[in-house]
Amino acid sequence: MTTDALTAPPSADPCVLLKHGEAFLKGRNRHRFTERLHDNLRVALRGVGGSTWIKNAQHVTVLGGQVPQDVLVERARNVIGFTSVEPAVRVPSTLEIITATAVDTLRTLHGSGTVSSFAVRVKRRDKQFPLTSAPMERHLGARIREALPALSVDLTAPGVTLTVAIDRKETYLSWARHSGLSGLPVGSSGRALVLLSGGYDSPVAAHRAMRRGLACDFVHFSGAPYTNPASVYKAYALARRLNEFQPPGTLHLIALGQAQKQLAIAGAGRLQVVAQRRLMVRTASALAAGTGAEALVTGDSLGQVASQTLANLVAVDEAASLPVLRPLIGREKQEIIDEARAIGTADVSVLPDEDCCSLLAPPRASTSTRVAHVEAVEKRLELDELIETLLASAEVLRPGEDEGRTAPPRLPDIPGQRVRGLRPSLP
Ligand code: ATP
Ligand code: MG
Repeated sequence: MTTDALTAPPSADPCVLLKHGEAFLKGRNRHRFTERLHDNLRVALRGVGGSTWIKNAQHVTVLGGQVPQDVLVERARNVIGFTSVEPAVRVPSTLEIITATAVDTLRTLHGSGTVSSFAVRVKRRDKQFPLTSAPMERHLGARIREALPALSVDLTAPGVTLTVAIDRKETYLSWARHSGLSGLPVGSSGRALVLLSGGYDSPVAAHRAMRRGLACDFVHFSGAPYTNPASVYKAYALARRLNEFQPPGTLHLIALGQAQKQLAIAGAGRLQVVAQRRLMVRTASALAAGTGAEALVTGDSLGQVASQTLANLVAVDEAASLPVLRPLIGREKQEIIDEARAIGTADVSVLPDEDCCSLLAPPRASTSTRVAHVEAVEKRLELDELIETLLASAEVLRPGEDEGRTAPPRLPDIPGQRVRGLRPSLP
């Protein structure tokens, strides 16, 4: 075989290799997890603009279709449960075609000016293939060197590693590895309802919950009609971003302003913030019955602000009828902000808003709330009725579902509020 004649065959089929996390592959639930992962991948591929196919190989999902490879890579990188995402080509498993494709792949990479050295790694999964792994690596290395003498072999720090996985009928050649999000497939651990504010913490908490397999819906409490709608727009944009990592969940918008005022009139005083937080988890617990959530998720981090002392968190838990999960409980603020940047929520969280919690907040909030004290305030209200009214007024949206991913969010109107400047500035 002369190397001059080597060009990749027309049968070389661009695809993407998605490696599964080991943790769930070992268990007895492997089949169920893989199905869920593939369902989530299909949802992530919606609106991609062409037909796609998914194939299950050992420990690997292969994704391809009539869609540019970089688009497939980008979508797959948002799917929780894959440890790595690798652009690849698929060819028939013959020595001649594999060799031609290997040379052609290195030629393209070399032509782009980014690669001056290489290594070849062969995984021979088909034991019938005529060459074993080590001789096949030497064979491919020699052919590539003949065709492209400017490239050198470097087995310790190669500019590119060409990985060649030989199955019985098909062989996959890949040359780059992007890290995936790892974690458990969204939905494999059940459903949760996230208390989503406009800040940095709760979106990061939601993302962490999703990475442990929880499908998330969201509830946001605004201070309407006493605050502007900025926090609602932020919550919408945050939920929309978070929905890119899961089959889209719902966002419930609840105007809490009137109820907050009632708590103040009832004499909450220094307990105002904890009383509001208790009202939020009570309302969220009732809402969860309709969304199928088995737990609430918040962005609390112990001691971060006055409302997050241990005594106050205990007082909040006491009002919830579902477990309250706090994925960020031991995290420092800076770590959380860094994570928010990595997952793409920081740009929204940084925008100014009028948070409902600062509305009516006392100058010195209680840091050691006793449940009995806050209950005494709550007794002056018709709590059940209040919660029913709040639930009845909830506006329900599903951010990201009915829009193209690049379209601007369709933002809700809040009764009695006029949209001010913020709308166009949201990403
Ligand atoms: P975040 O950055 O998430 O706003 P924070 O540091 O501002 O958190 P708090 O305001 O004390 O802390 O809120 C603690 C948690 O309570 C939030 O992470 C969120 O889960 C929930 N929460 C607070 N305000 C709201 C709100 N307006 N709507 C829904 N949930 C809220
Ligand atoms: Mg907040």
